[in-house]
Amino acid sequence: MGVVCTAAGWSWAILLVTMFVSANLLSRYHRAARAARIEDVVEKSGARDAWQVIANGGVFTAAAMGSLFHPSPLWLAVGAGAIAASTADTWATEIGTLVAHPPRLITTGTPVAAGTSGAVTWVGSSAGLAGAILIAIITVFVGWGATAAWAAVVGGVAGSLVDSIAGATLQRQQWCERCGKATERLVHSCGTTTRPQGGLGWVDNDVVNALSSLTGAVIGLMWLW
Ligand SMILES: [Zn+2]
Repeated sequence: MGVVCTAAGWSWAILLVTMFVSANLLSRYHRAARAARIEDVVEKSGARDAWQVIANGGVFTAAAMGSLFHPSPLWLAVGAGAIAASTADTWATEIGTLVAHPPRLITTGTPVAAGTSGAVTWVGSSAGLAGAILIAIITVFVGWGATAAWAAVVGGVAGSLVDSIAGATLQRQQWCERCGKATERLVHSCGTTTRPQGGLGWVDNDVVNALSSLTGAVIGLMWLW
């Protein structure tokens, strides 16, 4: 992805690096406290694997490829929306899971355990908005223009909204009989194999993240139109 984005231009590479470096720095912030709060719930925490990287940067890289072969302002709006959605989502998760009080499901408002997909806090959502705004500022800095900057803000907000809604509804939910707890893990931290409780079996966090990024791209494009 780095090679494709660099070939498309330094601006693409700078935005890609901004997302991954900021995500990495935020994940280091109070890492131990976050891990203790969410390790029972989330499927993956900490190190980003290849699927996670593709889910978060794949749509952006596809836009970079489009720009490489067929340059147009269209790709800038698409790319800005996609990378802003992924950045907003990551920032919201890293900061939101540190909030002391339990988050609420975006769909029902029910308080749930920190780390539950689709759960939101005001602090986390504000952090997400800040992430989208950072991407917007960078797009201005690299000369992508005001339209791409607004595409980043609008696409970032829409993408993280879709991420939360899809996380609460479509994403695979498991249940640990032994602990009596909801989780995303197929094998719980206690060692028990969990059973399906809701959502679609093939929809994990990576699928939801890719959907969020795609939403950001589409909304960015609609903003351009
Ligand atoms: Zn358990």
